[in-house]
Amino acid sequence: MKRLFLTALLTSALSMAGAATAEEQAPVAIAIHGGAGTILKANLTPEQDQAYRDKLNEAVIAGYAVLKNGGSSTDAIIAAIEIMEASPLFNAGVGAVYTWEAEHELDASIMEGDTLNAGAVAGVKTIASPIAAARAVMDHSVHVMLSGEGAQAFAVEQGLAMVENSHFDTERRMRALEKVKARLLENDHASLIVDPATVDYKFGTVGAVALDANGNIAAGTSTGGMTAKRWGRVGDSPIIGAGTWADNSSCAVSATGHGEFFIRNHVAADICSRVKYQGVTIAEAGETVMQDVLLPMGGTGGVIIIDAEGNIAMPFNTEGMYRASVDVNGEVTVAIYKEN
Ligand code: ASP
Repeated sequence: MKRLFLTALLTSALSMAGAATAEEQAPVAIAIHGGAGTILKANLTPEQDQAYRDKLNEAVIAGYAVLKNGGSSTDAIIAAIEIMEASPLFNAGVGAVYTWEAEHELDASIMEGDTLNAGAVAGVKTIASPIAAARAVMDHSVHVMLSGEGAQAFAVEQGLAMVENSHFDTERRMRALEKVKARLLENDHASLIVDPATVDYKFGTVGAVALDANGNIAAGTSTGGMTAKRWGRVGDSPIIGAGTWADNSSCAVSATGHGEFFIRNHVAADICSRVKYQGVTIAEAGETVMQDVLLPMGGTGGVIIIDAEGNIAMPFNTEGMYRASVDVNGEVTVAIYKEN
């Protein structure tokens, strides 16, 4: 994978952190994703390619700056994810995909590796930042997952920013809905699996994993789910153990891909269990689950993984995955396709 050294941005992140150098501090690191899928170089214009790279870079540097300033891994992943939720480029927050009824139903979750505390929201329509709501569930409720109107009422009580559902609208996702609906009607609703060759079927969920200077890891994921979803469908992203997992003794994972497969394979927790009980590296565990467990079943997507030493792995079994990281040496990587 080609590595980019974005020295100027990194220098500004470091100067925000004061005079400390990487050597003087306990190691910190962060990785983010903006979804995996049929992302081919030939399908993105140079301008689109650059727009994704710029936004990924902005988000990962924002999260890294939090870590360098002594912030927690939770604060860092929230900072990175909120930037991607606010961007129309990704299927989370603004730019979320549409349901069958042409609305947006958003899912998000977060987990902390030191306490195993976790929070999630599913099927929310009016919360500006679903990841902020997931954190509020974790920090300020006795529950792990809230859904629908109850989750929204809780968010109002918590003083979180609320918006109209149309706040998340984009033309591009509306066109995708029209295409997917046409295709599903042709198939007599037989399946939600749509041929990627005929429909723009990129995913676009966002997520982040991070290690802070106290040695704690955390993971978070936020999504609009899948285009044309119906009947209150909930994917893997808000499900602790499927789309998100964090445990200091193994690893932290955020997933993106075809949620039904990720739920049935409890992907995020499975990767960390392999690390914990088989003693394999995060790269080995991630690769095994993506290629040998998911792919033979037809499950496509990817994950980002970090461990408590700050090792990072970002395996996927699709054409591409929007991704970025800053490792323990401060090296910045931004990539989209298999090669870079
Ligand atoms: N995993 C998400 C879901 O199934 C979709 C995605 O990753 O884009 O809801």
